[in-house]
Amino acid sequence: TNSLFKTTLAPPDVIFELTASYKADTDPNKINLGVGAYRDNDGKPWVLPVVKKAEHAIVGDNSLDHEYLPIDGIKQFTEASVRLILGQNSPAIAEQRYASAQTISGTGACRLGADFLYQFAKGPVYISNPTWANHRAIFQNAGFDDIREYPYWDPKTRGLAFEALLDCFHKAPNGSILLLHPCAHNPTGVDPTLEQWAQIAAIAKEKNHVVFFDCAYQGFASGDLEKDAQAVRYFVSQGMELLIAQSYAKNFGLYNERTGCLSIISKTPQGAKEASSQLCKIIRANYSNPPAFGARIVQTVLNNPQLNEEWIHQLKTMANRIIEMRQALYSSLLTLKTPGTWNHIVDQIGMFSFTGLTPAQVKVLRDKYHVYMTTNGRISMAGLNTSNVHRFAEAVDWVVR
Ligand code: PLP
Repeated sequence: TNSLFKTTLAPPDVIFELTASYKADTDPNKINLGVGAYRDNDGKPWVLPVVKKAEHAIVGDNSLDHEYLPIDGIKQFTEASVRLILGQNSPAIAEQRYASAQTISGTGACRLGADFLYQFAKGPVYISNPTWANHRAIFQNAGFDDIREYPYWDPKTRGLAFEALLDCFHKAPNGSILLLHPCAHNPTGVDPTLEQWAQIAAIAKEKNHVVFFDCAYQGFASGDLEKDAQAVRYFVSQGMELLIAQSYAKNFGLYNERTGCLSIISKTPQGAKEASSQLCKIIRANYSNPPAFGARIVQTVLNNPQLNEEWIHQLKTMANRIIEMRQALYSSLLTLKTPGTWNHIVDQIGMFSFTGLTPAQVKVLRDKYHVYMTTNGRISMAGLNTSNVHRFAEAVDWVVR
């Protein structure tokens, strides 16, 4: 037939397809290590009690309505977001050198930042090898055609390819855009140390690179909000202009509320004012203004000391369960005397672990053991619990022998 649209079939999204296959599997012992969402020890999603509390408060608040929000969202939300990532006493806040806008979660923050950079910076764009699968697509769809990869993962050490990374940033054209994960790198779970961050900052500064931090896991990575923000704060302390994308999907468990924030740290208040006006212009032509509910939840919690305390406690509950699962998996592999070294399982941080399992081994795990994970050997630690972790270790033991 003669369609007006010259379409071909686009490939399905790998992660969403993995979840669908897992759901269709009828084996009672199936294990889903694909999806990047928190599960409790019973394998269930967890609505944070503090989020429930805030929801009730919002629903009962008769002063709230469904009028349009401002183009850049709820001010109490964006201001609290900036304080969360930069710290209460950040000079960038005191000097009013930031522009921020509420976004459609972390993905929307990355896209808004990419749209801004497409107009006001030149590139090329550097993304890590490997990185979150969506990074390349987001920058491509924003119009960038020169997207390059910087070395990140060293398969030999199962750690950071630091020298190669520095060398790449050194050789990159002046004014390149560097997309960095400030904590809990997805998919490897490997982060630079603070000393290494300082070296990265020095090169970025020297070469006038534009740093864009994609921060999807603050507090979720280590259980410590300050520690997970230290890279960003260090760069800001060096007087650098940069972008920050924040997501509240993981650390508030607000996956489907699409709640996030994009901030641009400028050199001057005037620069921030201009950046803010340009962000509003981009948003207006895209989705006009953001939805309210998720941002209301987050601002209710962040701006209330009592609720904030409760949140930090619940955040630690999530982070600690994941850290315990790393320990449990590691000790099961040791007990089984599984060939190979596995200390990277406990050294890596955040939601994911890059196991080093090959695509062929991943396939056997799926076909024989009903374990679902991405082909690159990444597992979501949140999919493990006290009932399945040993079983998973036994499956890994079987495939690597
Ligand atoms: N950036 C990274 C590195 C991520 O891992 C994720 C989520 O998996 C996101 C951004 C954005 O997620 P969301 O759009 O759900 O906030």
